[in-house]
Amino acid sequence: MRVTTAFKRLLRLDGVNVTAVEFLPTMIVVGVALRRRRLLCPHCEHKSRFRYDTRPVASAWRHLDLGVWHLELRANLRRLRCPTHGVVVEAVPFARPGARLTRDFDDLLAWLATRMDKTATARLCRVSWRTVGRACERVVAAELDPGRLDGLFSIGVDEISWRKNHKYLTLVVDHDRGKVIWGAKGKDAATLDQFFDELGEERSALIRSVSLDLGPAYLKSVQAEGHAPQAIICADPFHLVKLVGDALDEVRRELWNQLRRLPDERWAKDFKGARWALLKNPEDLTDTQAAQLARIRRNRGGMWRAYEMKEQLRAIFAGDLTRDQADELLERWCARAQRSRLAPFVRCARTMRQRRDLILNAVEHGISNGRVEGLNTKVRLLVRRAYGFHSADAALALVMLAAGPIDLKLPHERAAMKVAA
Ligand SMILES: [Zn+2]
Repeated sequence: MRVTTAFKRLLRLDGVNVTAVEFLPTMIVVGVALRRRRLLCPHCEHKSRFRYDTRPVASAWRHLDLGVWHLELRANLRRLRCPTHGVVVEAVPFARPGARLTRDFDDLLAWLATRMDKTATARLCRVSWRTVGRACERVVAAELDPGRLDGLFSIGVDEISWRKNHKYLTLVVDHDRGKVIWGAKGKDAATLDQFFDELGEERSALIRSVSLDLGPAYLKSVQAEGHAPQAIICADPFHLVKLVGDALDEVRRELWNQLRRLPDERWAKDFKGARWALLKNPEDLTDTQAAQLARIRRNRGGMWRAYEMKEQLRAIFAGDLTRDQADELLERWCARAQRSRLAPFVRCARTMRQRRDLILNAVEHGISNGRVEGLNTKVRLLVRRAYGFHSADAALALVMLAAGPIDLKLPHERAAMKVAA
């Protein structure tokens, strides 16, 4: 078998012939030529038989490694004149437009980025983290389910910081499917307006409920004419539980500072690691954390009262209460918080009373914390990985890859599908 034939089989590239294989000190360079005569615009369906010119230098794409070898594809491409896109370099079947990586390599990076930490992905694949970010963007642009904005009835809107210094993304979640279905840079009313523009009046009119954080920006956009003024507004339980979690943390910090000033260091030391025991859901505690919690319980101080209140609030959003039952419990909770002599909880109670209707709407429309917590936690963990990315679009792409309506395939899975078909 000739070496070019062997490489053609190895690389499984559609629509090309392998014309040359060269071993350089650091990589294998595989020369390929497109089999088709017609030129294709990379941005649309336009085909042409006329070439505008041929690029003077070969284009190159990094492909999946072959053992320890870097592999590079090279091809001489032509340019064509597309009536819509002007003079452009012709499309190739094995890479997405403008990419310096093949589609297989893009897909591998995108898959790894959702499952592996930054350093591991970059080291394993010998690419920079920014390259990973760009691959994520291309995969999302090509593979996101185009029907993701159809049939939306119950949505949630959330902001998330993707980088330090107040860089935010706005995300829209489909509660019924449990997926992030839309996102954009920014976190004000105008950001969410873009979503409704894309959705259009007809689909917006079908939305029955929208869950939101407690700020005014998104509310303004949802209630605007032509958006979803008919929708019932619900408070996002994740944010309420977090609000109380923050209050609990404040109580803990205060107590710790008092303990630290005591002459006997033992008290402070004992208490220092208690943070996670208090903030985690009780079903997720380790044995050590459970023991810490039991100690706090035995002391029966303000700390324990605060902890109980956090858990009681979580129970309101467990998803098994009627509106009236929730109303009663919430009222009791607020009364207890206001009597607690814990300033952060007194403040919480005030907020809850102000937003009482929105909170009860959430209970009535089945937006339980369990439903939103999983997705929220996943997105928040993931977005921390996006901190090193160059742009909001790349951070958003990573979120969409992991939590959006995308069926991400690895190169060998795609190959198997082709064989089956
Ligand atoms: Zn075109």
